[in-house]
Amino acid sequence: MSEDYSPMWESLGMDLNAHETLLGVLGQGYQDIYLAQKNRPKGMGYFDFVMSEVHGLRIKELLDEKKQNRKIIGSYCVFVPEEIVLAGGATLVGLCSGADFAVEEVEKHLPRNTCSLIKSSFGFKLGRVCPYLESADMIVGENTCDGKKKAYESFAGMVDNLYVMDLPQVKSGQGRALLKEEYERFKTAVEELTGNKITVEDLKEGIKVVNAKRAALHRLAILRKADPVPISGLDALLANQVSFYDNPARFTESVNKICDELEERIKENLGAFPSKSPRILISGCPMAVPNWKLPWIIETSGAVIVGEESCVGERGARNLTDDSGQSQDELMEAITDRYFKVDCAIFTPNQDRCDHIVEMAKAYGANGVIHYGLQFCQPYIMESIPVENKLEKLGIPCMRIETDYGMEDVGQLKTRVEAFIEQISD
Ligand code: SF4
Ligand code: SF4
Repeated sequence: MSEDYSPMWESLGMDLNAHETLLGVLGQGYQDIYLAQKNRPKGMGYFDFVMSEVHGLRIKELLDEKKQNRKIIGSYCVFVPEEIVLAGGATLVGLCSGADFAVEEVEKHLPRNTCSLIKSSFGFKLGRVCPYLESADMIVGENTCDGKKKAYESFAGMVDNLYVMDLPQVKSGQGRALLKEEYERFKTAVEELTGNKITVEDLKEGIKVVNAKRAALHRLAILRKADPVPISGLDALLANQVSFYDNPARFTESVNKICDELEERIKENLGAFPSKSPRILISGCPMAVPNWKLPWIIETSGAVIVGEESCVGERGARNLTDDSGQSQDELMEAITDRYFKVDCAIFTPNQDRCDHIVEMAKAYGANGVIHYGLQFCQPYIMESIPVENKLEKLGIPCMRIETDYGMEDVGQLKTRVEAFIEQISD
């Protein structure tokens, strides 16, 4: 990190010792997993820098924004519309939940058989180690899976600024009406928080900025169709992870820059992995920073990841919002339409997701799909069985993995992944 940020972290009420431990682990993990990779595009230097300053410079920027009276809103889910946050003159940041922390303390509040993602969100709060969480003026929770829904009831006692958004579970007319209503309610909450009345122009601008970010991520995604693949799955995942924290305009510019470089690499036949390497599509639960375990296992076992059917990936970033509406209502309808297409496993039935996995496997030329389920995540683990059946019927090999954030099962996972890679390489 470029300077000593301890006074800043202290001013946020963080536990400096615990935080130092977290940064130590994160730094070492980044070194071993990311910096150890070969043939990385030069443009990844930007993301290496962002990661090295993820609790430093970016937090300083957010605190500077706060000094200018700009509000910071934290979110745990891709259903929270960044378009509305930006339109209200606020900044949206993802609250990562990608690592275990303060586990003993967490298990005083949550049952042991809760998914790692939810446990992590509690651990970061209870351990006072997340400067994003501590900087947020509003934290948005959502009624998605049962685990999250119930966890927010306890979480509300730990923070004084939790806003809970209700979400539909069925893609019906009523479901869509609920989503629209909840987005209207959220718009009002953002206006109240910021003191800014959102105009048609504000909404259009918010949509424009977020569309540009998603278009850049889409551009990056489709470049991975090439063989050899010009960027590793780990690096592409990192870009998706950083999209939740970074300044959106700067992020978009950096992703487009790396895409320019990847286009050159494709012309020159330069890959992050050799041509004809086995290609894997990952599908399932979101992988938040610093959850790199499974991609690291896959990419150190001789295969390359060509896509992520995940909220930190294509499920979260695909589909742009129509910005042609001329009234607030038309634009809010367009925002609702865009988010109503997110095929999270909390929806029932959820055929769209199954179809999208098949579509992605074909489009990216995947030789096999690894379904990633976090232990105790009922929606994704339940859905993994019909997903596997459908893929197998179509002749696309699929392996279902259930794991958590611990490292105890790395050896066992590696053995299974290597066997799967061997199977799909035949
Ligand atoms: S998996 Fe579902 S609940 Fe989780 S971030 Fe994605 S949309 Fe939200
Ligand atoms: S991983 Fe599954 S159980 Fe955990 S928060 Fe997401 S949907 Fe809920």
